[in-house]
Amino acid sequence: MSYNWCHNPDCHKIETQSRVRGSGDNKVLRTIKINTDTLYDYQKGIYEYFCNQNCLHSFLKKFAREIANIRPVNKPSETPIKVEKTKYESHRYKWTDNGTERVPYQATRTTISRVDND
Ligand SMILES: [Zn+2]
Repeated sequence: MSYNWCHNPDCHKIETQSRVRGSGDNKVLRTIKINTDTLYDYQKGIYEYFCNQNCLHSFLKKFAREIANIRPVNKPSETPIKVEKTKYESHRYKWTDNGTERVPYQATRTTISRVDND
């Protein structure tokens, strides 16, 4: 069995039954242990290190600057694209005294596609 402790430094301060450990007068709130063997595919990745979204975002908020410094971004990146606008017939419904009336109009669809140079 492989596991990680939740990486939110304040995980053990959150008051939930699932964090209570110990007996009698020696009870504590303990950091959540994440069993990485039982995670679903959609939980793999970041949730191998954080027990839930609250702990993940508490960590991100507390260490935002350090996280950003792991991979600094000093200029924007760009993706070459082609923007294509096409007209098509659509309709909307207009309320009348007899219910609704179908009203046609010319709509515009904007399609963005990538121009792959690489
Ligand atoms: Zn946690």
